[in-house]
Amino acid sequence: MTFDTIIIDSHVILPSGMIEKNIVIDEGKIVNFTNEIPQCNEKINARGLVSIPGLIDPHVHYGVYSPIEKAAITESRVAAIGGVTTMMRMLRLGGSYRKLLDPHLLESSSSHYVDYTIHASILQKSHIEEMEFCAKKGINSFKLYMNLGGDVGHVYVDMTPGTISLQQEKVEIDSSMIEKIISTAALLKCPVLVHAEDYQMCSCGMREGKEKKKDGLGAWSESRSVESEIKSIRDVSKVARKVGCVLYFVHIGSQGAINAIKEEKKNGTKIFVETCPHYLTLSYESQKGYLAKVMPPIRASKDVDAIWSEIQLGTVDSIGTDHVANRLDRKLAGNVVWDALAGFPGIGTMLPILISEGVNKGRMTLEQLVSLTSMNTAKIFRMFPKKGSLQNGSDADITIIDLKKENKVSSQLLDGFSDYTVYEGWNLKGWPVKTLVRGQIVAEDLKIIGKPGYGKFVTRPVLS
Ligand SMILES: [Zn+2]
Repeated sequence: MTFDTIIIDSHVILPSGMIEKNIVIDEGKIVNFTNEIPQCNEKINARGLVSIPGLIDPHVHYGVYSPIEKAAITESRVAAIGGVTTMMRMLRLGGSYRKLLDPHLLESSSSHYVDYTIHASILQKSHIEEMEFCAKKGINSFKLYMNLGGDVGHVYVDMTPGTISLQQEKVEIDSSMIEKIISTAALLKCPVLVHAEDYQMCSCGMREGKEKKKDGLGAWSESRSVESEIKSIRDVSKVARKVGCVLYFVHIGSQGAINAIKEEKKNGTKIFVETCPHYLTLSYESQKGYLAKVMPPIRASKDVDAIWSEIQLGTVDSIGTDHVANRLDRKLAGNVVWDALAGFPGIGTMLPILISEGVNKGRMTLEQLVSLTSMNTAKIFRMFPKKGSLQNGSDADITIIDLKKENKVSSQLLDGFSDYTVYEGWNLKGWPVKTLVRGQIVAEDLKIIGKPGYGKFVTRPVLS
């Protein structure tokens, strides 16, 4: 018999360690690891290269500053180029899921280069009643924004398909809503992704920073303090512990937040921790200008070191990008940090950053890279072993990397909606050279070669 594809002579990273075998792919799945070369239609010579499971980015915002039918094309193109084979969209709706979800899914189905799935943000009381509806649609994780309320409760939501104007909503997350979201998720056996910042403390801090005419990313970090993260981590953990809800703290980037999470785990709350590449590379001390403005803020360089240590200790479960597909004209509107837009793109640089700053600097093994960027994420969000591992029967989502390849980062290279990157000009060592989604090469040598519409919606099962 003839198989579809074989990847020859690469170092293959399994959870148990590295092996030297050829990977045989047929009908989109991995079917064998072997020293032989069976009859195959396509041969990929990967001598000297490393094969890892395609990255799963658990935290991606796209469809906010351009409509999803366009955003899915540009952002999944960047994902493919950067070695990401599944992107998890953080969907925010200004209206009902019953009404708006299907149009979003329809537009998504013809526009992705890589596979994708969705987390449903719960922004309104009426959304809580729709959580079961979402779960039945295969959307089995919910996002809670503890940072949205009072005078900091405005957020841009995803554009309704077919429209092209920015859509802002007022969100009032209060303690009764938090309790209801957490208890409903517990009943549905779904994890809740938590943006842990206390909106009242942030509102106070920002008002004070503005009044005192402070500026810069240091002032931004001071205004949205680590203490505000700690307070909301404690508050929500207590609620979750009572009802047995699993929490997934997104974008954790400070030692204080990590310490609070460790305590709450000891108290018995089931918690997963996500960090982002920017908390491993950027500090307000090293960054000029406002490009790296984000919520929660990038912190001091000692926090950067602390997050690396926690990765080595195994406290961090996953790495996501918190990618926001926006552009400089909006990003840098105004002349002070308070007027700049928060969030920046990152899905295209996640892998090269982690190889260059992590693996190649001895701060992360290839096995840890795989656990943090695909396997753990797939397990937490119920895509394992279809996704997240190189094993027989799994989808052949494979990223082939060259640990020695050097390249300078530029926004042109990444080819997305954004016209900037916070890593502009960084010389990184270690890049993806081929990205396969279900056995098909979708990107090669930092160029897209797949087709939009190839990427499929990954539904995630309801637990009984
Ligand atoms: Zn986010």
